Amino acid sequence: MCGIVGYIGHREAYPVILKGLQRLEYRGYDSAGIALYDGNEIILSKTKGKVADLESKVSNLPSFSGNLGIGHTRWATHGVPNDENSHPHFSNSGDLVIIHNGIIENYSALKKELIKRGYTFSSDTDTEVLINLIEDIQKNSNLKLGKAVQVALNQVVGAYAIAVFDVKKPNEIVVARLGSPLAIGVGENEFFIASDASPFIEYTNNAVYLEDEEMAVVRLKKPIKIRKIKDDSLVSPYIQELKINLEQIEKGGYDHFMLKEIFEQPHAIKDTYRGRLLIDEGIIKMAGIEDNMGKFLNANRIIIVACGTSWHAGLVAEYIIEDLVRVPVEVEYASEFRYRNPVINDKDIVIAISQSGETADTLAAIKLAKEKGAFVFGVCNVVGSTISRETHAGAYTHAGPEIGVASTKAFTTQITVLTLIALRLAKAKGTMSSTDFRRHLVELETIPEKVEEVLKSDALSKEIASIYKDAKNFLYLGRGFNFPVALEGALKLKEISYIHAEGYPAAEMKHGPIALIDENMPIAVIATKYGHYEKVVSNIQEIKSRKGKIIAVVTKGDEQVRDLADHVIEVPETLELLSPLLTTIPLQLLSYHIAVMLGRNVDQPRNLAKSVTVE
Ligand code: GLU
Repeated sequence: MCGIVGYIGHREAYPVILKGLQRLEYRGYDSAGIALYDGNEIILSKTKGKVADLESKVSNLPSFSGNLGIGHTRWATHGVPNDENSHPHFSNSGDLVIIHNGIIENYSALKKELIKRGYTFSSDTDTEVLINLIEDIQKNSNLKLGKAVQVALNQVVGAYAIAVFDVKKPNEIVVARLGSPLAIGVGENEFFIASDASPFIEYTNNAVYLEDEEMAVVRLKKPIKIRKIKDDSLVSPYIQELKINLEQIEKGGYDHFMLKEIFEQPHAIKDTYRGRLLIDEGIIKMAGIEDNMGKFLNANRIIIVACGTSWHAGLVAEYIIEDLVRVPVEVEYASEFRYRNPVINDKDIVIAISQSGETADTLAAIKLAKEKGAFVFGVCNVVGSTISRETHAGAYTHAGPEIGVASTKAFTTQITVLTLIALRLAKAKGTMSSTDFRRHLVELETIPEKVEEVLKSDALSKEIASIYKDAKNFLYLGRGFNFPVALEGALKLKEISYIHAEGYPAAEMKHGPIALIDENMPIAVIATKYGHYEKVVSNIQEIKSRKGKIIAVVTKGDEQVRDLADHVIEVPETLELLSPLLTTIPLQLLSYHIAVMLGRNVDQPRNLAKSVTVE
C-alpha cells in the first residue's frame, strides 16, 4: 500500500504532487519520489524517508520544474526502503517511468526472462520489472504506450495501481488499477491522478474512479479513454462530483482510521496470502520458510515472543502449529522472556511477532535468543523495520500501514501468516494428509469473503454497543482457538473505551470470575460450532443462571445459543482453526462503537503509543 499522485496540465506539477504526497503519507511513508518532464527530459528526485526528506532533497536542486509528473510515497513490499528501491522507476532505456502501488506476484519469473533478454535492474522491486516488461513489449511489437501497458498487465499476476509516462510522448499519462485504488481528477484542461481524491480536491470536485481491471489514457485536450484491461472493451467514464472534505477522504470516508482498518481486513488478508497461497498448484510458497526448511524440521520446539495484540496472535498460532505440525510451541511475553534467563538453545526456533517491527522488548528478546544460538524468524508488517533486519529470516504481513493505535488488521494478518507457516511446515513434515492440506488451502482462500460477510454485522454491533456502553466491566470468554480471541476482544475494549475488561478461557470462569457475574455484567462469549461447542453452551447456561447479559458470537444458523443469549452475532462456517479470523471482527466493531459512543479518541487513545519503542 502506498500513495500515488500524478499531474498533467498548465500548473507547475511539483508543488501539486508534493502537497498530494503529504496528504497521502498515511498510506505509506518509508520513501518518496517524484519524476517530472521538464520539457526536454525526465528529471527525478527520490529518497528513503518521509516526504519532508524528499522536499529538502529537491530544495538543493538548481531547478525541479515541469507541467507533467508522477510521485510516490512508498510502503515497501519488495526490497528494503532505500533510495534505489524508491519510486518512480525508469525502464532501461530511460524513456519510460512508473509509480506503482501493490505487488506483482510473478515478478521473479518475469525478471528472469527480462534478464535473459539483456535487461538490467538497479532495484529489488517488483515495480522495476513491470516497467521493463512494458518497455520490452513496446519495443518488440512497436506499440503505443497504452497498448504496451495493457499487454504487459495481461501477463502480470498481482495487484496494482500504476501511472506511467513516456518521455517521447509527454502529453499523456497511462494509468491502471487492479486491487489498489486510483482516482482521476478532471479539471479545466488538466488532470490529476491519485490513490484517493485528497491530493486534488482543492483544484477540482470532478473525479473518475477506475474500477478493478480498468486502465485509462489521460491525455491533454482529449476526453479520458477507459478500457477493460482484459478484453479491451471501452468503458464510458463516469465523472462524479465529490462532496466530501479532505479528512473524510484520507480516512476513505470512514470516521476513524480504526474503522477503516477494520473494514480493510478482507483486502489485507488477501494481500497477506497473495503469491504465497497458490491454489492452482496446491502449494504454499514462502521464501523465508523454504530457505530454512531444515532448521524448522529439526527444531525441538518453537517459542513465540511478542507483546500486546501480537502476543494474542502468537497464542492463536500456538494452537494452530501444535495441531497441524505436532511440534511443541510456547508463547512468551517478550518483556518477561528477556529478563528471566530462559532455557533456550540451537534446537529452538524463536518466532518474533511485531506490527511495527520496532517493539523494544521484542527486539531485546530476539537479541537474547540469538545469543543463545536459536534461529530467529520475524513476522512484521513494516518492511525494512529493525526486527526484520535483526532476525535470521521472516515473513511480512503486507497489511499496509496501520494508523489506528488499536491493532485490528495487523492481528488478522499476523494470524494469516502464521497459519500459512503452519500449513507449509505440516506439509513438509507429513503431519497432514494431502487432502486435508488442500481443504485448508481452499478454505483459507475464502476467508476474505467471509470476513466481508461478518462486516455486515456492523449495525448490529453498534446496536449492542448502545445497550452496554455504560457498563463498568466486561467479560470475554472463549475456548480452544478462540480463547486468544477472547483476550484480544477484552484488550480492544480496554484500549479504546477505557472500560475494564477481562478475557478468560470459558471453563476457567468457574475458578474465579463467575463471582463477578450479575445482571449488570455484559459477557461476550465466542460460541462457534466446533469441538468445544457443547461445553461453551454449558458455560452460557451458567452465566444465564446468574443473570449475566450474554453477547454470543455464533456460527450462522445456530439455534441453541440463540435461545439462551441476549444477543447473537453470526459468523459464517469455517474450519475451526481459521475461525479466529472471523470471530474477532464483531469484537473489534463492538469496542469501536462503544468507544465512539463514549466520546473517546479512538485512533489515539490516552496513554498509548502505536509502536512501543521503549521497554
Ligand atoms: N511493490 C512495490 C515496492 O515494494 C510497491 C509497494 C507500494 O505499494 O508502496 O516497491
